[in-house]
Parts: sequence; structure tokens; C-alpha cells
Amino acid sequence: MPKLMRSDWYDLARDMNWTLRYVPHDQAFPPELVGPVAEVPTERWWTWDEPYKLSYREYVYNQSEKDAGVGAVGAAVARSRLFEQIDPGWKGAIKAHFGAVTLSEGESTLAESRMGRFGLAAAWRNMALFGALDEMRHVQIQLKVAHSLLERDQQFEWAHKAYHTENWAIIAARGHDHDLFLCNDVVSTAIQLTFTFETGFTNLQFMGMAADAMEIGDVEFGALISSIQTDEARHAQQGEPTLRILLESGEREYAQRLIDVSFWRAWHLFASLTGPSMDYYTPLEHRTMSFKEFMEEWIIRQFMDQIEDLGLEKPWYWDTFLDELNWRHHCEHAGIWYYRPTVWWHPDAGVSAGEREWLEAKYPGWTQKFGRLWDTVTDSVRNDRLDRTIGNTLPVLCNLCQLPIFMVPGTTSGATAPGQAPRQVDHGGRRYSFCSEPCHWIFTQNPERYASTTTVVDRLIAGEVQPPTPEGVIAYMGITPEVRGDDATRYAWAQPQIEAVA
Ligand code: MN
Ligand code: MN
Repeated sequence: MPKLMRSDWYDLARDMNWTLRYVPHDQAFPPELVGPVAEVPTERWWTWDEPYKLSYREYVYNQSEKDAGVGAVGAAVARSRLFEQIDPGWKGAIKAHFGAVTLSEGESTLAESRMGRFGLAAAWRNMALFGALDEMRHVQIQLKVAHSLLERDQQFEWAHKAYHTENWAIIAARGHDHDLFLCNDVVSTAIQLTFTFETGFTNLQFMGMAADAMEIGDVEFGALISSIQTDEARHAQQGEPTLRILLESGEREYAQRLIDVSFWRAWHLFASLTGPSMDYYTPLEHRTMSFKEFMEEWIIRQFMDQIEDLGLEKPWYWDTFLDELNWRHHCEHAGIWYYRPTVWWHPDAGVSAGEREWLEAKYPGWTQKFGRLWDTVTDSVRNDRLDRTIGNTLPVLCNLCQLPIFMVPGTTSGATAPGQAPRQVDHGGRRYSFCSEPCHWIFTQNPERYASTTTVVDRLIAGEVQPPTPEGVIAYMGITPEVRGDDATRYAWAQPQIEAVA
């Protein structure tokens, strides 16, 4: 067989586009699955061109090398005492990751597969099928690593279990994933999943956390997630060619709306997951950058450059986003810690004296806004009143992002105006609460898409959670006694600092 260069045959083998004669085009590519883009001529989609080219043979070779790399690190770690020596706060960060991320990759598998069938160009379908294979790998290798840790720590079972529960954090994550990945047409998926979520946000969790993991010495987790991110960086490239074609076809407003919706949803998800992990769970001496600094580097600088290069604009709520960057994840963190019996990891409070200094340096005003709250918690811990540090009532949750509604003085948060109640609207005979103007705006873009979803609190009020007690709620969320979250360091951080003896 003659050995041709890939560039000699690639376009010919890839561009299997033709005009359908036996079925109408919109029967093979129904608008429900493709998206409302009937105005864009079919032939224009055939100009879709991915920046990074790859043959199947190369794909298989690369992927098997990557798997072998992660496997070798895992085998070495299994023989060592490394896991036992890892900081308890960091263990919380990786358990939160496994639960929130592993089966979400399975939802991405379906989204990629849908683009692999209904993508509007052969080149796009080809890339998407590689993407589907990538995402299957991400489910499998993360389950494999979590499974290998199970005998040391039962909380790792949530890598598999989380998405099968009605845990509040998973309801929020699933709501995000269903909107952007699972229940989405292919054009919107290319922009919301691959462009916004993967080009923008996954860098935070997968590159940022990998940097922290290597600092800490958790080489297995570091190798695992950096291996995943190399795939993400490749299949994320489906977004840009799709966006270019929409923009060439006069669909700027539509493209911008898809970005504005998905950026906000991804922001809230990552503020809850990556925010506490970086700024509270990662041991102080191993923090590479603050969450806000990672956001500034990966999102504000790099991702926004990309958006502006394409001629698009920052989302309309940019100032609100910049404001939230200073407080949102601090609230999420305090909330998760306060409701720690509802999560499958042990959250690290992360507010010892040295950590508070770091937080104040990275987030000027932190002490005034959040330090006082932690002072009260610290007093309760020292006075043996742990009961005062655990939530017994439920917070009001946002009917869009499903996360708590926070009210922080001096910020754009929660209320419609200082001192007012959270923003609420009536729709179809039901009252909805929203944590922010953008969450309310997303709802108004397509109320029927979101109207039937319910928060844990809605379900409690409707009588779906029985018995309607704190214990009943925890059981409803799938949390069993063996995995129930508690403070990562057994409250060591709250003890008065012992002066060094000379
Ligand atoms: Mn993935
Ligand atoms: Mn992906």
C-alpha cells in the first residue's frame, strides 16, 4: 500500500458531503436536532474546517499512549503510601471533582455523538466522533482511578453514584449539563459545550487543578486530568468553525445569545466546584494562583480575546460577572461547609490565621465580608457548639442555576435592590426565585425549557421529601452515613494558634 502523507488524502477522505436525493434534507437533519439555522445554506456548512487535523490511526495511537501514561502513574501510586500522605483538604477537592465531573463526561459523550450524526458537515461529524470517543475515555479512566481508591475511602463511590442521585449539587450540575450538552441541538452544542464550556471553562478545573495537584504531589490526579484536558483542547475546536459560519451568515445575535446563556451557567457551576477547591481546599503552601487569578488568566484574558477576535462581544452582564468574581465562590464555600452533611466529601473550612491573610491579600475586603462569619463559626467550634455550625433549614435556591441565593452587602447579589427580597417572578401560575439578573434573563429566553424544573426546596414543599426533616433531606439526597461530609481536618483550623516554643 503506498504511503501517502496525511495532507495528500485527508480532505478527500473527510469531505463526504453530498446532496441528498432519496430523503429531503430536513428529514435527515431535522431542525429540532440541528438548531434554528434554516437560513444558512447547506453548502456553506461544507466549508467547515477544523484547525487541528487527525486521522483515526493517529487518534488510536495517541489515545493508547495517553491511557498507558495515566495507567503507569496509577500503578506506581497504588504501590506507595502517597494517598495516605495527601492533605485532607485536597482529598475533598478531588472527591468533589470525581462526583461532579465523571458522569458529566458521559453526558458529553451523548452530545458529541449527536454532533457526530447531525453535524452539518462531514468534517464536523468526523471531529465529533473523535470527541465522543474522548468523552467515553474520560468516564472510564476517572471511574477506574476512583474505583482504585475506593478501598481506602468510601467517599470515592460518588464518582459513579453522584449523577444517579437527587443531591442538590448534582441537581445543579445536571441542570447545567442538560441545558448545554444533553438536551441541545447540534449548533447550540458546538457553541455552548465546545466553545464556551470547553475552550473557556474546563481549563480552570483541568489545567488549574492539575497545576495544584503537581505542587501537592498528587501525581495520579494531576496526570489523569491533564490527560483529559489534551482531548478537550482538541475537540473544543468544533466551536470556532461553527461560530464562523453562523457569523458569516448573519446570525450574530443568535450566536451571541448562545454564548451569553452558556457563559453564565458555566460560571456558576465552576464558582461552586473550582472556587472552593482552589481557595480553601488546596493547602496554602501549594496554591499556584487564586481562583480569581485563574479566572483572569483563562477566562477574562484568553477566552475573551478569542470572542473578540471573532467579532463577538463580552456578555451583556459583564459588570455583574466581574462583581461576582469577588464574592460568589466565597459564599458557595461557606454554604457547602455549613451544609457539609449534604455532600460526599469533607470540605476544608480553610480559614486558619494564615489562610485568612492569604484570602485578604487575594480578595481585599474578604475579612470584612466573610471573616466575621467565620469568627462566629470559630467561636461556636471552640465552645463545643457544633450544632450552631450546621444548617438545619434550607436556603432559598435559584430556579435557574439551582444554587443558593446569596445576599452580600455592597454587591450586585440576590436582591433586586439593597435590603429587598430576592428577585421573584410569576410565570404560568408558579412563583420563581432567581439569584441574579442573568439567571432571570436566561429563564425569560425560553421559559418552557426551564419552567418545570424543581429545586430540592420546591420538592420539600411539595411533599416529595419524606420525612421532611434535616435527616430526611440528607437521605433524599442519597447521602449515606459512611460518606456524609464533615470538616476535613476535624476542626483543627479553629483551635487557637499554639505559639512556637523557643
Ligand atoms: Mn471530557
Ligand atoms: Mn469535552
